[in-house]
Amino acid sequence: KKRIAVMTSGGDAPGMNAAVRAVVRMTIAQGCEAYAVYEGYEGLVQGGKLIKRMHWEDVRGWLSEGGTLIGTARCKKFTERAGRLQGAKNLVSAGIDALIVCGGDGSLTGADIFRSEWPGLLTELIKLGELTEEQCASCKTLNIVGLVGSIDNDMSCTDATIGAYSSLTRICQAVDFIDATAYSHSRAFVVEVMGRHCGWLALMAGVSTGADFVFLPEKPPQDKWEKEMCRIIKTHRAAGKRKTIVIVAEGAIDRELKPISATYVRDILVDELRLDTRITTLGHVQRGGTACAFDRILATLQGGEAVKAVLESTPDTPSPMIAINENKITRKPLMDAVRLTKAVAECIKNKDFVGAMNLRDPEFEE
Ligand code: ADP
Repeated sequence: KKRIAVMTSGGDAPGMNAAVRAVVRMTIAQGCEAYAVYEGYEGLVQGGKLIKRMHWEDVRGWLSEGGTLIGTARCKKFTERAGRLQGAKNLVSAGIDALIVCGGDGSLTGADIFRSEWPGLLTELIKLGELTEEQCASCKTLNIVGLVGSIDNDMSCTDATIGAYSSLTRICQAVDFIDATAYSHSRAFVVEVMGRHCGWLALMAGVSTGADFVFLPEKPPQDKWEKEMCRIIKTHRAAGKRKTIVIVAEGAIDRELKPISATYVRDILVDELRLDTRITTLGHVQRGGTACAFDRILATLQGGEAVKAVLESTPDTPSPMIAINENKITRKPLMDAVRLTKAVAECIKNKDFVGAMNLRDPEFEE
């Protein structure tokens, strides 16, 4: 019986539990044994109680739960070979040779490095007397499949990451609440949203709440944007709008790569437009809470697909990442997706903003 383990790693995201539930149940439905590695790579390195057999009823009720019930962690040890050696020993000792990782680009990079070192790690463990030839006989290859769990929607090659729409929904609700009070007092609000180096949450929040201005990392505003922002807001006010909402992405920068802070934006609105302006930093409410319907569906379909990808893999196929493209669940080479994701960050660092946008959307024209 094949043994398939699932883990969540990196930042938590709503829908991760739905993904774990789907992997566990699809694994069992396919006649295999399911395992969960608790606490991300920390659990892999420590082993023991942190690698647990999972049964059908163990994941009951997990579909709607926010966060990740099997825990997640950032694990420095796994970034070093010695930590991965320990991880390999713990996996093989439990007879596991397939690992489905739900996390961001860092976690998926780690998973691919782990796979690429695989037979070597085992040979070393046999030499050290930590594992026997028999133990390793059934674990000659390691299957890795990636599921992208991130509220930021920052992974290339997929239209949506697990958690992004839940987070967007929460931001929308929060801005709707702010709208009511902003309207009442005719105030302006500068709302800071998460997303790290990706502007998807900020952009989509702007679209779905009808914000007056949005600051994104991938498309910094033109020089002297302060004037332009004030001009736009003044026009909106002159047309009778009683509230002003400006959304600032966590990673917002100007064309010189200097961060654009919510306080700076507020000061401009106060000094130039005399608007009574408040700042709201949404913070971790954007990560927590139940998963929205879309994330539950996405995680369930992708979790099932991940198990199928494990069962259909051959030693020559590169590790797949389960994606969604134009509403279809797809498989993409994991390392291509990671490479493209890193290329966007590189473009931004080199002030090639058009290049960054082209990588995000090949049809983009400035
Ligand atoms: P995310 O998966 O959300 O991008 P991180 O970048 O923090 O989050 O990665 C999560 C964990 O994945 C790290 O704490 C580390 O254990 C592992 N990891 C990240 N990058 C690598 C790497 N290059 N090699 C090995 N492990 C890595």
